[in-house]
Amino acid sequence: MRRVLLITGASAGIGAATARLAAARGWDLALNYRTDRAGAEAVAQAAEEAGARTVLCPGDVADPAQIEQIFGVIDAGFDRLDGLVNNAGIVDMTASVTDLTHDRLRRMFDVNVIGAILVAKEAVQRMLASGQGGSIVNISSAAARLGSANQYVDYAASKAAIDTFTKGLADEVAARNIRVNAIRPGLIETEIHAKGGEPDRLHRLTPNVPMRRAGTADEVARAILYLLSDEASYVTGTTLDVTGGR
Ligand code: NAP
Repeated sequence: MRRVLLITGASAGIGAATARLAAARGWDLALNYRTDRAGAEAVAQAAEEAGARTVLCPGDVADPAQIEQIFGVIDAGFDRLDGLVNNAGIVDMTASVTDLTHDRLRRMFDVNVIGAILVAKEAVQRMLASGQGGSIVNISSAAARLGSANQYVDYAASKAAIDTFTKGLADEVAARNIRVNAIRPGLIETEIHAKGGEPDRLHRLTPNVPMRRAGTADEVARAILYLLSDEASYVTGTTLDVTGGR
């Protein structure tokens, strides 16, 4: 029996790498994205070639009405939900705290925090209803520890909220056979840095990484798949750094 996994932000980067690996490891997939339909379709095609059933569930996780639509598509396509990778996330342009605007802060927290919590809520409701339990992996960031001064303190604070949410939710549902953990990626080769206006960010910062290199989306995906899997059957409420030691 193939279990069903929802990955938010599955059209690119860490989400896309996780989808490809999850398909190979026996998961069927609900693939969320916001704008990049071509990216999501390419991921779905690769996953189907690896034997997975897939549905695309587009929607902006910052909008509660669109979260309802995302889960409507999942409920129509599958009769269960066993896993969630709460991965959709954004950064913004490098800025000091003195330059942060209300609009920017609202968007950052709507996507990275409120969206992630509402998606987890919907997933947990389904895992509880099935009685089968499940596994949730929230994607935090090393920024939650580092603070990201003079870069994006708002992003770092949003990811610290994810760490705390992970522990709280894990404790709430542990006795119901639902495990909840987080991954804190470090500097990972994806397009998120260019989207934040700094395509050269990895090159600039890798000298600060003990392993002296950036990580790949596949390296993060492998850690995510471990936490999702029964190999991590006694692991909950924890946060795993995938940072090359940073
Ligand atoms: P990415 O390459 O920019 O991909 C982001 C994905 O999230 C895309 O599929 C994008 O979809 C989707 N997305 C963005 N906003 C969304 C929204 N409002 N609703 C639904 N989907 C949305 O980023 P990434 O580097 O893979 O990052 C994935 C996660 O890892 C994020 O939570 C990020 O904060 C975290 N992270 C990344 C790094 C790193 O160095 N790369 C380090 C630490 C943490 P569309 O393009 O279709 O809109």
